[in-house]
Amino acid sequence: MSKRLNSFELACNHVLSAVKRLNLNPAVYEILRNPERVLTAAIPVKMDDGSIKVFTGYRVQHCSVLGPFKGGIRFHPDVDMGEVKALALWMTMKCAVLGLPYGGAKGGVTCDPREMSLDELERLSRGYIKAMYPLLGREKDIPAPDVYTNARVMTWMMDEFSEIKGYNEFGVITGKPPVVGGSLGREEATARGCVIAVREAAAALGISLNGAAVAVQGFGNVGSIAARLLHEMGCRIIAVSDSSGGIYNPRGLDPVAVLQFKKNTGTVKGYPGSRPISNEELLALSCDILIPAALENQITEQNARNIKARIIGEGANGPTTPGADRILNEKKIFVIPDILANAGGVTVSYFEWAQNNTGYYWSEEEVNRRLEEKMVAAFKEVYQMYRAHKDLNMRDCAYLVAVQRLSEAMWLRGWLG
Ligand code: GLU
Repeated sequence: MSKRLNSFELACNHVLSAVKRLNLNPAVYEILRNPERVLTAAIPVKMDDGSIKVFTGYRVQHCSVLGPFKGGIRFHPDVDMGEVKALALWMTMKCAVLGLPYGGAKGGVTCDPREMSLDELERLSRGYIKAMYPLLGREKDIPAPDVYTNARVMTWMMDEFSEIKGYNEFGVITGKPPVVGGSLGREEATARGCVIAVREAAAALGISLNGAAVAVQGFGNVGSIAARLLHEMGCRIIAVSDSSGGIYNPRGLDPVAVLQFKKNTGTVKGYPGSRPISNEELLALSCDILIPAALENQITEQNARNIKARIIGEGANGPTTPGADRILNEKKIFVIPDILANAGGVTVSYFEWAQNNTGYYWSEEEVNRRLEEKMVAAFKEVYQMYRAHKDLNMRDCAYLVAVQRLSEAMWLRGWLG
């Protein structure tokens, strides 16, 4: 519990430092430290054995100064209000860094989808929408996938919302399959954005990606696709892991074959020709690029000293604690922070929403081209700030870019008095 409450407090500390550094009105911090609206809901679900189980669902609408609320819905046993608040604040920052016309929000349900049937998951997804209906809408708050939710879950949610409304409302949710209003390229977008940021960082630091050794923690939607894209760019994927453990092969793994193996067996563990390693060992491997793409608080004061990567691209939200950040700074490891590195997902969500609102759908090349444009521009903006402030790291600078933009919008809208 305290670990998660901390995530929100720690994120607030970053905001406070940025407000002070930029010499902004302290009200900017007061506004950002208090989410605009939070809702906890009881969601009764009929289980396959006929019993009723009541799940707890959350939606935090953090700050809407830049536009309607936007942010994913997480299904995970560790979800609680503290975590959802932190994730919502990070969404506000992410949208601001990328210059998207959205405010930040996040949702979640405390549950273990790995132990639920598809029918139970469908009833839970529909129950979540029934409970949150008054908050949601394509101009109000637009959810999307997050950990353990996917295009299937988004479709049930969109369908439930449309049923209550009485007509199709594709734009209420993003991350849908293309046949029901989804965007081409959305599924890959978070990983693709992360790989673009890593490529830009490598170019800025003069590191060649050809043959570069990569370790990926987390082999879900972000990690597995990032591994594949980096492999296609000539990197050597020496290790990957999932919640059951990791695999290592210094000569390089084939991410497509590993994904197929995981689909068949449920885990990457036991992949032929690899040596089993723990998640801790993976983080400490000698490699050029490390992609944490699992959950929060993985790189800590305890293990940061062992990290040997030159670039860390945060595919996950909040994988690095502030204590670890200090150590990584000392070690001169270049960290591309979550609010920049994994913002490709919400960027293509924005494209999906724009396509839903106009009813005109783009080609995959068009989506990827525009994603590339936005990611490169955001990376450059943060990197320029970093070059200009020798005492700050990339995370501090991403917060400066975001908070500056939020403060300007607040001032223009008259929120600061
Ligand atoms: N859940 C994703 C994130 O953390 C995507 C959010 C969205 O597409 O709205 O960025």
